Amino acid sequence: MLTFTETEAISSYLFSFAAGDFQVEEAERDGRRMAMYHRETDRERLERNVGPIFDLHASALAWLEEYTGIPFPFEKFDFVLVPAFQYGGMEHPGAIFYRADLLLLDESATQHAYLGRASLIAHETAHQWFGDLVTMTWFDDVWMKETFANFLAAKIVNPAFPDVDHDLRFLLAHFPAAYGVDRTAGANPIRQPLENLNEAGTLYGAIIYQKAPIVFAHLERLIGEDALREGLREYLASHAYANASWRDLIAILDGRTAEDLAAWSRTWVEESGRPRVEVALETDGDTIARLAVRQSDPTGAGRLWNQRLDLRLGYRGGASNAEVSALEVHLRDAEAVVADAAGLPAPDYVLANGGGLGYGLMVLG
Ligand SMILES: [Zn+2]
Repeated sequence: MLTFTETEAISSYLFSFAAGDFQVEEAERDGRRMAMYHRETDRERLERNVGPIFDLHASALAWLEEYTGIPFPFEKFDFVLVPAFQYGGMEHPGAIFYRADLLLLDESATQHAYLGRASLIAHETAHQWFGDLVTMTWFDDVWMKETFANFLAAKIVNPAFPDVDHDLRFLLAHFPAAYGVDRTAGANPIRQPLENLNEAGTLYGAIIYQKAPIVFAHLERLIGEDALREGLREYLASHAYANASWRDLIAILDGRTAEDLAAWSRTWVEESGRPRVEVALETDGDTIARLAVRQSDPTGAGRLWNQRLDLRLGYRGGASNAEVSALEVHLRDAEAVVADAAGLPAPDYVLANGGGLGYGLMVLG
């Protein structure tokens, strides 16, 4: 007979059993014992992968403990490799489930597969804090834990893959799909009411999977990395082993920035749509007299979106100037003047969204 000790409080959707003819590999990293349960019969395949799998978990744990300021919040850290598991992974505390073939890679695996494995491990490990330690109050905020997990996984994993253009990958993976829905009249907001759990599937689409990560990147850009990290630490510490909502987080972050985050959240998270953004350039001979960026609401409702934009000034012949490329403007009102632009050589064109993270219908100027 087996007797299980009492765990910390967890939400019912996080409870799991794994039953089957599993083998177990054990390892110790940073003073922590970890166990990997699996059914792999190819010994060579197993031995090739087992070390990196433990290493990836250990480095994700170390990073998250440092970022959150909170030691791993549960008693044990094991994982179960399930053949043909229906998801890539599931963040059960104490025993993360994975689809086995995403971790036990072929000898000929591509860099894409290695990046995917590292990202999946970092994602599920991040959930131990964001989702497991602090759980959303209701499933209308599931998007929040998924966005957190991807946001942090990118921070954990991307530096280990320096040959990949992560910014370009992010742009291609998110913007076209998000715009495809958000430019239409029927677009849903990121956060929307969910009356019954059996309708949860209807929430999921490009707005949650593609727009929400963009909006989260905007949030960090708007208030700064330090304010975001400190706010997330406070959010985790004050709601540990309990539930919290997106609005609880926004209230915490709002106290750490001069920006009005409640208003920011209303336009970006609680409503659908995007601004129309255009550039207004006035020249005086060969120099810029005044450069401004303007926004308007395509629906005519007069809404204003708060975002920071990186402009690019282009010159015929391709001459580029690093200083000019770095122009930044904070678009909050209907118009923002680019203070550093006056007096610069008049460009042949201006890209309002030269940095690529801006969100909206960008009219070429
Ligand atoms: Zn997840």
